Amino acid sequence: MTGGAFVPPIAQAEAPPNVDIAVQAAQAYHDTGAYQHDFDAIVQRAQQDVERERLYVKNPAIVLDIDETTLSNWPAMKANHLGYVSEGACDHLPKGPCGEDAWEERAEAPAFAETQALIKQAQAHNVAVFFVTGRSEKFRRATEENLHKEGISGWKHLYMRAIGDHQPAAAYKTPLRAEIEQQGYTILANLGDQESDLNGGHALHRYRLPNPYYYIP
Ligand SMILES: [Mg+2]
Repeated sequence: MTGGAFVPPIAQAEAPPNVDIAVQAAQAYHDTGAYQHDFDAIVQRAQQDVERERLYVKNPAIVLDIDETTLSNWPAMKANHLGYVSEGACDHLPKGPCGEDAWEERAEAPAFAETQALIKQAQAHNVAVFFVTGRSEKFRRATEENLHKEGISGWKHLYMRAIGDHQPAAAYKTPLRAEIEQQGYTILANLGDQESDLNGGHALHRYRLPNPYYYIP
C-alpha cells in the first residue's frame, strides 16, 4: 500500500449553532441598543396605526402580551446568562441564578417606555387595553403590583393562565381574543414577542416584537 491511510468522510448531521456563541450574539443584540431600537420602532408603528384607525371602528381595543412586550425580564435573563432557571430563589441580583417564579413574585420587571406610551395614549382616547399573558393566575397579585409600580393601570382585563393549564400559548390566547370581540370590541392591534401571541387571527393588525432570548410554543 502506498501513501497514508485514507479516512473516508463520515456522514454527519450539520452541527447546530454553538450555544456559547449564540448567547454572545443575543447579548450583543441587547447591549448595542439594537434590540431596543427594533422594539421601539414596532411599538411606534402600532401606536400610529391605532391613532389613525381608532375613529373608524366600534369600541376599539388593543391586546398586549406581558413578558417582553409590556414588562422586560432582562434583569433576570442577564443574571442567568440567558439560560432558563425556573426553580429557586432570586436573591442575588444582578448576580444569578434567578428563578423565574421568584423573579415574577418580586414584581420588579421594568416596563418598556414605548409600550407605556402606547397604553397611555390608547387610554386617553378611549381605546380599551387588554392584557393576555401566559403567566399563571398564581402570579396575578405580583403581576398587577408590577404593572402598577410601572405606572400602568386602568386596563379592562388581565387574562392569565389557569393554574395547571399547559396547552400551547396560541391555543390559550386565540379564544380569549375571540371572547374580547364577543364583548363588542374591535381589536385594532395585538402585540406580542412570540408567534404564539399572534397566531389565530382576531385582530386587525398584529405586531411581532423582537425576542431572540427564549421561545414559547
Ligand atoms: Mg411575551
